[in-house]
Amino acid sequence: MRNTQRREFWFIVGSQSLYGNEVLETVDRRAREMAEKMSERLPYPLVYKLTAKSSKEVTDTVKEANYDDSCCGVITWCHTFSPSKMWTNGLKNLQKPYCHFATQYNREIPNDEIDMDFMNLNQAAHGDREHGFMAARLRMPRKVIAGYWQDEGPVKRLGDWMRAAVGCAVSKELKVMRFGDNMREVAVTEGDKVEVQAKLGWQVNTWATGDLVMEMNRVTEEEIDSLVEKYLNEYEKNTDDTGAIRYQAKEEIAIRKMMDREGCIAFSNTFQDLYGMEQLPGLASQHLMSEGYGFGAEGDWKVAAMTAIMKAMGRDGNGASAFIEDYTYHLEKGREYALGAHMLEVCPSVAEGRPKIETHHLGIGMNEKDPARLVFEGKAGDAIVVTLVDMGGRLRMIVQDVECVRPIMPMPNLPVARVMWRPMPDLQKGIECWITAGGAHHSVLSYDVSAEMMKDWARIMDIEFVHITKDTTPDMLERELFLNDLAWKLK
Ligand code: MN
Repeated sequence: MRNTQRREFWFIVGSQSLYGNEVLETVDRRAREMAEKMSERLPYPLVYKLTAKSSKEVTDTVKEANYDDSCCGVITWCHTFSPSKMWTNGLKNLQKPYCHFATQYNREIPNDEIDMDFMNLNQAAHGDREHGFMAARLRMPRKVIAGYWQDEGPVKRLGDWMRAAVGCAVSKELKVMRFGDNMREVAVTEGDKVEVQAKLGWQVNTWATGDLVMEMNRVTEEEIDSLVEKYLNEYEKNTDDTGAIRYQAKEEIAIRKMMDREGCIAFSNTFQDLYGMEQLPGLASQHLMSEGYGFGAEGDWKVAAMTAIMKAMGRDGNGASAFIEDYTYHLEKGREYALGAHMLEVCPSVAEGRPKIETHHLGIGMNEKDPARLVFEGKAGDAIVVTLVDMGGRLRMIVQDVECVRPIMPMPNLPVARVMWRPMPDLQKGIECWITAGGAHHSVLSYDVSAEMMKDWARIMDIEFVHITKDTTPDMLERELFLNDLAWKLK
């Protein structure tokens, strides 16, 4: 069930009454023009709210922003000087993501025209510093973006920040449906659900596999016919086992109905609890993910939620992001890669070409029959892998830059979707960094959500953020983690 909530951002421009009405009218007119023009290139509307001249105006607008569900964040800018003690009470109350866009209306200093009137009207360089001090003094978590408002670069960054902020709005509303518990004895997929709800807003609850089986029994043949038709339009059929495809359709329909009824956009299950089911959902989970639902295997509700959030942050609200697991390495000198896959459930949004529906034996778990699944190769391109671990008392997000390649060998006997990548800074150091940080074997692989967006998301959510880049070394990272540990104990 795609969320139909309207999402917009508010543009609040700082000024003061010192310059007279004419200046304020000009500021107002220009701010409206800027918001309208930028909105044409931004993923969400930027709505000009007001030119703030007093503490009351700022405070009233912040209160309104806090309680308006469509407002996903505020973007501030100071056209003129805006004495920023007037922002204190408002900023202290702000509960929405906050970005300070340091720009100015004119691109160039007009050589002949510039005089003191021009200087009083166009002093963002001055006003934005005053505004920045106040936010720094208040220790406000915020994004600062500088650049000309008509240039592609800064507007793109503003748009990316909006996507991160929308990811936060999605997070605050997010419900995860768990079928069964975590895989027995696994540590990293565990976590404090109460803490996660307090921090990230996630409502993580369990439904019995038996509830799902009952729902499956109510699915009609007509419903299955119509979903199978959809499968065959989107994917290539590479199996004679039509029964397995129909069974997966039945699973998908039932899971979707249960999630939609409860308002859940992510789910997890486990191969250790499939009582009353013939097959672990494979194709079913993959197709649900392709339509924006999050998924985590073996009860991994954290990665299920992150998959849903990152999909919502991506292109058109459902980007190329997939649940993935590190499986095995290719350690040939000069061609070192990691192979990511899962026993069934990788989202086809990361596929190169048309995925194939296949059925194969799955020895692990309680499968009475061979589950149908999508088999494909991941596409080439720069991407990130993201994981979230519970460190006991706090959450740590780990993001690693990776370079995906078309798998360097066909692997004809591998019966699952596969993606191959080189982690940064290189395979060996990349593994060392990931393991040092406590990164999980499950993660979300994304081609269109950037590390900067995830950093913005983590800042807004107030959780630890660790980024492994081409410049990271295991030594540097160890020191960073040590300092983070101290800092987060003090927070
Ligand atoms: Mn797994």
